[in-house]
Amino acid sequence: MNSKELFSQSSRLFPGGVNSPVRYYDPYPVFMKKGEGSRIYDVDDKSYTDFCLAFGPLILGHSHSEVIKAVRSAVENATSLGAPTENEIKLGNIIQTAVPSVEKMRFTNSGTEATMHALRLARGFTGRNIILKMEGGFHGSHDYALIKSGSGTLTFGVPSSRGIPEEVSRTVVVGQYNNPQSIEEIFKKYGKDIAAVITEPIMGNAGVIKPEKDFLGFLRDITSRNDSLLIFDEVITGFRFGFRCFQDIAGVKPDLTTMGKIIGGGFPIGLFGGRDDIMDKISPVGPVYESGTFSGNYVTMAAGIAALNQLRKMDYSSLEAKSSFFENTLAENMPEKEKFAVSRFGSMFQIFLGIDHPVSYEEVIKADSGKFMRMFHKLLERGVYLAPGQFETNFISFAHSKEELETSALKISETLKETGKA
Ligand code: PMP
Repeated sequence: MNSKELFSQSSRLFPGGVNSPVRYYDPYPVFMKKGEGSRIYDVDDKSYTDFCLAFGPLILGHSHSEVIKAVRSAVENATSLGAPTENEIKLGNIIQTAVPSVEKMRFTNSGTEATMHALRLARGFTGRNIILKMEGGFHGSHDYALIKSGSGTLTFGVPSSRGIPEEVSRTVVVGQYNNPQSIEEIFKKYGKDIAAVITEPIMGNAGVIKPEKDFLGFLRDITSRNDSLLIFDEVITGFRFGFRCFQDIAGVKPDLTTMGKIIGGGFPIGLFGGRDDIMDKISPVGPVYESGTFSGNYVTMAAGIAALNQLRKMDYSSLEAKSSFFENTLAENMPEKEKFAVSRFGSMFQIFLGIDHPVSYEEVIKADSGKFMRMFHKLLERGVYLAPGQFETNFISFAHSKEELETSALKISETLKETGKA
């Protein structure tokens, strides 16, 4: 069955034919069946260079042999045990050693769960109700995160979802990333009611926006002065630029951190962790409830251990070199008349059309989404699979070869020459 036929079936089962809205694009998404290294294969056996990489977990590329081996061996023992296992300790130890701010942690099944529990914990710990998040910041799809959010909520024009009670939205205030003044004003107004500030240290769900000099340090300072907690959502950035989190690169220590994606080796995972005294407020030792049937799942843990043990041996500077080569090739070959910006940090990148280099959410949303999707479709024809949306992030993995990156960059520039005329 081809993608069109499969879509007509899936549309009868799932809203929009998909199980996550960011997978949908007009007129119907290509159905995939296999991934190998840097390549993804559709149901018609066409292969693509994959820059979406399952929205981020696959920094080693698809189906890394060590991860597959570990998963095979784990399922020989069990699928899920619903009891503590040594695998959880092994993965926990790796993370605790690599990310010093995470003194204690809890595994969850997704980044959404991780931020939901971290926010409840921040409220439970401080006894305050208000959460400050950044406009365009994405922390998953629970009520407290879906206020002026990013990712698919920008693409599909629902910055705040319907169905969120006003009582909830009144407890979330929104500041501007890279704009200390906007944060200061909020603290002046709500001061002692702010339980926590949550931010992605690098905005990755409104394209890629890097922190301007000392913005993260400023957040550390203002939260400490006001006895609020600082939460870094490192679901994307954890273990992406080195065997550590971005907080260690920035030199800013948050109180709590959330992670996901890479640490599960391609299996569903999330994590929240941080200061011992805060984490000890979690049940069963503390009064803040959190649970999950599949949390710390035996097979997921095995995949995560294998992926991180592999990553520990990898030379992240080679990934940076490849990514920078890709960015330069792209910039050198862009059609002259095209207004564009390649926003990149390490192996995360996005190509913004119609705008210059964005440093804020307000600038990002002026990008030409329609043109981006025309480019996306033409690239599919040429065998390049980008994340399907102007406000998503693309990823380069250790499995991408330099040749493949060069060919892809040239295909992108050729495509833009055509879409420019469209
Ligand atoms: N936080 C960030 C920064 C994310 O990018 C995402 C997902 N892209 C999430 C949280 C939610 O994670 P999940 O999709 O695993 O629920």
